[in-house]
Amino acid sequence: MARYRKLSEYLRERYKSRVQKIPIYAGFTCPNRLKGEPCIYCDSTGSGFSTLMNLSIRDQILTWKDRFKKKYKNVKFIAYFQAFSNTFASMDVLRRKYEEALVDDEIVALDISTRPDLLQEEILDLLESFKSRVDVFLDIGLQTVNYKTLKILKRHHTLAEFIDGVSRAKRRGFEVTTHVIANLPWDDLEDVIETAKVISALGIDGVKVHSLYVVKGTELGNMYERGEVSIGSLEEYVQRVVTFLEYLDPSIVIHRLVADPPKTGILFGNWGVSKLEIINAIEKELEDRDTYQGKKFDYLNR
Ligand code: SF4
Repeated sequence: MARYRKLSEYLRERYKSRVQKIPIYAGFTCPNRLKGEPCIYCDSTGSGFSTLMNLSIRDQILTWKDRFKKKYKNVKFIAYFQAFSNTFASMDVLRRKYEEALVDDEIVALDISTRPDLLQEEILDLLESFKSRVDVFLDIGLQTVNYKTLKILKRHHTLAEFIDGVSRAKRRGFEVTTHVIANLPWDDLEDVIETAKVISALGIDGVKVHSLYVVKGTELGNMYERGEVSIGSLEEYVQRVVTFLEYLDPSIVIHRLVADPPKTGILFGNWGVSKLEIINAIEKELEDRDTYQGKKFDYLNR
């Protein structure tokens, strides 16, 4: 029995085939970076280190499609605008870049990753205009509901902006996925539980659970090198993720259970073990505790 709702199965059900996300660097930046105050963990690629950033959007997509089609038969694609804040430009620029990603009808969806405070109504209008051609998903960063931790992270938004952005996106029928970091050193288990509860209460559709990694040259990297931050054990991470899943609405799709750190410039990443080992450890803990996603989802009046 699957103990959590896996993305691959959800996509296969929905599109009747394998679906691959294509990570895109679209040349955007982010207001935090312009202010000279990026999130303390943000690397110089704005999490876009796996993108083919020297190519045009169209060529990035065609190159990835070629690679995946050599590996898989019957595969469809999601154009995932991943790096930096992908709603941070004029309407004309945004329209042109999103349009460029629709290279053919094997692209079944646009997935736009952005900050909760960059979802003004005119941006939602623009995104809505693409819905007649492809599905449109929104990836809205959060990391934690603990507003004190959000301040330490220098997110430059609070929980309120997140609730506002998600609520307005949901009212228009967008599918929303959010990102959380389960092992933030400033959060405890109660924060992790509260994050699961708020995400569930907001009716969010998908979650990406990340492990905190530390990149050299970031503010977090400097703090780590000065010994000001210590990251909990892998065992603790596994416990936190399993508890997070227990409190999460069982209908929420789990896009990931652990981060995928960059290959270079890393000071700390995934305790030196592979992603697969961590996923296996989480799945084993779910079995050992005989628990599953949503086991403790009994706190909303529904
Ligand atoms: S919002 Fe994203 S792109 Fe901007 S500084 Fe934070 S992590 Fe980097």
